[in-house]
Parts: sequence; structure tokens; C-alpha cells
Amino acid sequence: MNMEFHRKLPIPKEIKEQYPVTEEMAKTKEQRDDEIRKVFTGESDKFILVIGPCSADREDAVIDYIHRLRTVQDKVEDKIIIIPRIYTNKPRTTGAGYKGMLHQPDPHNKPDMIKGVIAIRQLHMRALAETGFGCADEMLYPENYRYLSDLLSYVAVGARSVENQNHRLTSSGLDIPVGMKNPTSGDLSVMMNAIYAAQHGHTFIYRGWEVTSKGNPYTHSILRGSVNKHGQSMPNYHYEDLIRLFEMYSASELVNPAVIIDTNHSNSGKQYLEQIRISKDVMHTRRCSKDLCKMVKGLMIESYIEDGCQKITDDAVYGKSITDPCIGWEKTERLIYEIAEGI
Ligand code: PEP
Ligand code: MN
Repeated sequence: MNMEFHRKLPIPKEIKEQYPVTEEMAKTKEQRDDEIRKVFTGESDKFILVIGPCSADREDAVIDYIHRLRTVQDKVEDKIIIIPRIYTNKPRTTGAGYKGMLHQPDPHNKPDMIKGVIAIRQLHMRALAETGFGCADEMLYPENYRYLSDLLSYVAVGARSVENQNHRLTSSGLDIPVGMKNPTSGDLSVMMNAIYAAQHGHTFIYRGWEVTSKGNPYTHSILRGSVNKHGQSMPNYHYEDLIRLFEMYSASELVNPAVIIDTNHSNSGKQYLEQIRISKDVMHTRRCSKDLCKMVKGLMIESYIEDGCQKITDDAVYGKSITDPCIGWEKTERLIYEIAEGI
């Protein structure tokens, strides 16, 4: 093999023993999880916002940002459930560039995966302990899920992973909502097949074990736009796209038909300020159709403290994304109140 084996990583059980959640944290998360699950089963008509930076690049700024979300959450709690994005591992289009806190706990230093596993656990722990939020992360490496399984309230399977059997079968063993993104090509049947696979039980290999999953009824879709053969962004958040998804759900055997609209990525063509207009467009669409109002459970918004994005440099700006561009805090706060009014 053309690679070096450096050292064996601690298993999730060991890391969890070293960095345990308190009883109070576990209780907070369980209550939050219940509230979130009820949105997907239709028992609650609250609206979900999965919101936060594209990547969680540094603990201080991410925790600062999530504290700000907490203040807003308390003001809109009768209508909205905020699930902060703490995305600690990033899929990269060509494999090059920053792969997230898991790989590089300090973006300026070399990869260190042991430090990375500890850093991402500590970040999710701080968010839960200090703000009461169970957060969202991307399942990029299914076998790593158990390092955070007592902390996460929401998981997304990314556009580049959604066709992968390992991601689908692992999702089928989770008891929190998993959002399956449409693939970068935009073929919705890939996403629907992923949801089908994850909603059913399977026997498979996980972390070197033979395991059996029960199927995850909270698995749902995320529309993030696509890229066509000319490299152009093709949005899929419009009324017609959502009607088509509703029809696909109606013709399927899937339970809990639900979609979250990702307002950035190929929906905005990474014109990140468009997220504000797209959010309002989706809220308008919900008001035009009872069926869509029920099916569209929330939005995924890329937001941080500062507008835009930056390269990784020694004098990097605090709270500004080092991956996809995000809307800054002032715009975010205003947008959340406007979304609450538009429900
Ligand atoms: C993201 O949410 O930052 C992301 C990488 O999304 P996608 O998988 O849709 O590209
Ligand atoms: Mn992103």
C-alpha cells in the first residue's frame, strides 16, 4: 500500500469516557431531539432553521455565534426551532483545501486527526452545555458518527455522499433526523433512493462489527440546487420544483415526507446574499399551497458573524467563513425575525 499508518485513534467509547456529557446535557438534548422529531412527523408545525457557518473553523467565533443564535431563539421559540450548523468535516470538490476542524483543529497547522476528534467533540459539547442547542453536522465519514452521537440533533448527508451505500445504511441506524441532499447533478431519484434506503433496516458492517439497523423514519430530503453540464447553477427551490418533489413523495412509500431547502450552494450559485431573497421566496411558496406548507419543514442557511468569505491567512478576520460565503450576523438576525413573521 502506498500510505503510512501513523497511529491508532481512540475508539468513540474511549473519547466519550474522557469527555463525557453530564446528565443535564443529556436531558437537554433528549428534549430538543423530541421537539425536532415532532416537526418531521407533523405533530409540531414549528419551522426549522439549520443555520450557521459553512465550516466551524475556530471554537471562539463559533461559540460566540451560537450564543447570539440563542438570544434570537428565545424570541421566536413559539414558531421556530433553530439548529445551529457546526460543520466539522468538509467534503471538497477536488479533495484539495481545508477539510474542517476534524482534520485541522488549527487551520494554520498541519492535519492532526487525534486532536481533531477531541476538538470537534469539545466544540459540540460547549454548544450544548452553554446554549442548550443540540447542533447539526455533516456525516462525511459515517464511521466517525459515534464520536458525536450523544451530542448531535441533526445530520446531513452531503451532495457528494448521498449515493454512497455506507452513508445510507449508517443513516438507517440513527434516531435523529438525517437530511439527504440532492446530488450535485440534481437527479432527485438519487436522493429519494437514499431516503428509501435509510428509512429501512439493514444488516451491514459498521466499525468492524456486524450490525442491524431498524430504519430511520426521520430521514428526509434537502434541496441544494445542482450544476448542469455547462457548469451553471440550477436552482431547485422554486414552487414548481417543490410540487414535483411533493408528487414524487406521493408516489413513493416513504414516511414523513419532508424537505429542508438549502438556500446557498447551487441554489444561490454561492451568491450568498441571495439567501435572503430565496428564504423569503420559499416562505411565499409555503403560503401558496397547503401541501407544500406541510412538506417544507425548514431552511438551511449559511450564516456567520461577518459577511462573505476569506482565504486562510495569518491575519484572518474573526467570524468570517474560510469556506463558502455566509451572510453576516446583522442580516441573519433580521432574516430570522422576517422568516418568523412570514410563517
Ligand atoms: C455544505 O452544507 O456546506 C455542503 C458542503 O453542502 P453540499 O454537500 O450540498 O455541497
Ligand atoms: Mn457550504
